[in-house]
Amino acid sequence: MNNSYRYQLERYRGRGTRYTCPQCGRKYTFTRYIDTENNNQYISDNVGKCNRLDKCGYHYTPKQYFTDNPWKRDDFLVADGSLRHFTDSPCKRKEDFSFFLSYRENEKKKNTPPPRPICTLPEWVVERSLTNGAVSDHVQWLMNTYGEEETERVAKMYGIGASMQGFVIFWQRDIEGRVRAGKIMDYDVVTGKRRKYAGAIGWIHAIMRREGELPEDWELTQCLYGEHLLKEYPDKIVAVVEAYKTAHVGAILMPDMVWVATDSLQGLTAERLAPLRGRFVVFFPDEGKGFQLWQERLPQIAQEVGFKYQLSTFMEGKGDGVDIADIP
Ligand SMILES: [Zn+2]
Repeated sequence: MNNSYRYQLERYRGRGTRYTCPQCGRKYTFTRYIDTENNNQYISDNVGKCNRLDKCGYHYTPKQYFTDNPWKRDDFLVADGSLRHFTDSPCKRKEDFSFFLSYRENEKKKNTPPPRPICTLPEWVVERSLTNGAVSDHVQWLMNTYGEEETERVAKMYGIGASMQGFVIFWQRDIEGRVRAGKIMDYDVVTGKRRKYAGAIGWIHAIMRREGELPEDWELTQCLYGEHLLKEYPDKIVAVVEAYKTAHVGAILMPDMVWVATDSLQGLTAERLAPLRGRFVVFFPDEGKGFQLWQERLPQIAQEVGFKYQLSTFMEGKGDGVDIADIP
């Protein structure tokens, strides 16, 4: 049996045969594979190809799907090397394969859906925020304070985006290079501090979902801000801070470390810090509440994830709510 004939991309028979792409979220652009030996049924909702080759490029083939979900193959019994010739073999006694049969039954019974793939944002939306000519107040403040050269270096490292209105967009890109989230914030160009008012903080996925550019069931899974840099600098000590802005300032003032941010005080979890496994890490909590909370949580998280760390008291005694970015 040759799978490339058996599984085919569904022919176009109107909009109803084109679906929302599981990666870029664009409607009517996703072509699913059908199984021509099984009533032309779909293999699975996410097995298919996005029509937006350049902007998205999603292509999940039946072959890949059956590699990921071997028990879904109808020739699962012969999937194992030792049983490859089961169907042609003179030895066809069922009991020889009882182990495999029960494994298959168990897998069916469990009926647990495979872990949901992580929802990501399309690259074009990041690209747009980097090429629209806008300079955010935050980046402008960095330039005024630390100079153009250093700011440009850091802006490039982190891929700092801007909205047309001059709000900064912090893209959370994970260690695999996937864009998990974009946070929009409003900073004062003179003081460099956050402007605090209702609606001063927004998320790109929330806007895109409202505009129908992401599927309804798109789910946010945050990662460390700057996580993609961990792969780029595997030997550097990692500095963990709470705020995006602090990570940028840290990367300018202390470039020997890789600076990542947790987004919020509560972002300090084993799940979020998992990419720090095997690293040496220095935590720079904000003065006050941050220090205490991180001090309480870190021993267990470090053990669970597997990293060595120091908790810096750098901010202690510098005044409540002060962070590195406030120190001249
Ligand atoms: Zn797509």
